Amino acid sequence: PIGMTVKLANCESVFRNILSKIDTFLFDCDGVLWQGNIAVKGAPAVVAHLKSLGKQVCYVTNNSTKSRHRYVEKLTRLGFPADVNSVFSTAYTSALYLKNIAKVLVQGKVYLVGNPAMAEELDSLKIQHFGSGPDNQVTTQDHDEVRSCALENDVSAVLVGYDGHISYTKMIKAASYLNDPKCLYVATNEDHRMPLNGERHVVPGTGCVVASVTVAAGRNPDVIAGKPGTFMLKCIQQTVEIDPTKCMMVGDRMNTDILFGNQSELHTLLVLSGVEDQESLNKAVESSDPNMKRQVPEYCMGSIGDWYAIYE
Ligand SMILES: [Mg+2]
Repeated sequence: PIGMTVKLANCESVFRNILSKIDTFLFDCDGVLWQGNIAVKGAPAVVAHLKSLGKQVCYVTNNSTKSRHRYVEKLTRLGFPADVNSVFSTAYTSALYLKNIAKVLVQGKVYLVGNPAMAEELDSLKIQHFGSGPDNQVTTQDHDEVRSCALENDVSAVLVGYDGHISYTKMIKAASYLNDPKCLYVATNEDHRMPLNGERHVVPGTGCVVASVTVAAGRNPDVIAGKPGTFMLKCIQQTVEIDPTKCMMVGDRMNTDILFGNQSELHTLLVLSGVEDQESLNKAVESSDPNMKRQVPEYCMGSIGDWYAIYE
């Protein structure tokens, strides 16, 4: 059974109570609204129902591999028709951070360890960048070979997100730029891995790319543009009016979604249709470690689709 500190959100009375006090729902996407390319059963109807009641709905994802426009396409295709202004992905929020918050620092270029969606969002905000795509010229620790790696001048920030072309060469370049303490280090997110439920393979997350740069550079990111970083909420608040006391973060991962919600003083709902299961939730509930305590959600339910059964 779920620990006493977590309420079961699919009981009808609790559902009504949530509807009466919450006016804005922030939904994580993968593991909450869909699993891979399949919508979670009942989720499109639940989101449509919330909207029909006048609730504000935003989509808040750590995934940096899609631009906001691509997210709108995927959301719409899977049954969640959305406006681009309701989508907050880390490809976008990291670019926004570099432009709006770090503007003093970013008078030069950005070295990007990332992917085409991140390049697209930087382009759309007219931020100069370089580095995207394959780059594996240096494969040994031979000093001359390392020195042959061309370094650009005027690099004022290193931005790291998901990069399927992460290489030793990119680690050399990122760490060399970050040797300059004035060079800003921005990461999209630190998710460790994505489980392929019940399968043999593991999908390493963006956190693996970030960790390789962090270790080589000997410094931690100055800012995390995604969850659990609180900059994500500031981004959302630039577009959407939010009263934290009436806002609920709905997510499937405790160390990102729920921690973000708790740190931003939002209401939190964990669904067990993605990363976490009853066992990992119980572990957090029973833990005396303060870091784990901060990841315990206020509410929990099996899947967001469970609400559909209540009002259908
Ligand atoms: Mg998720």
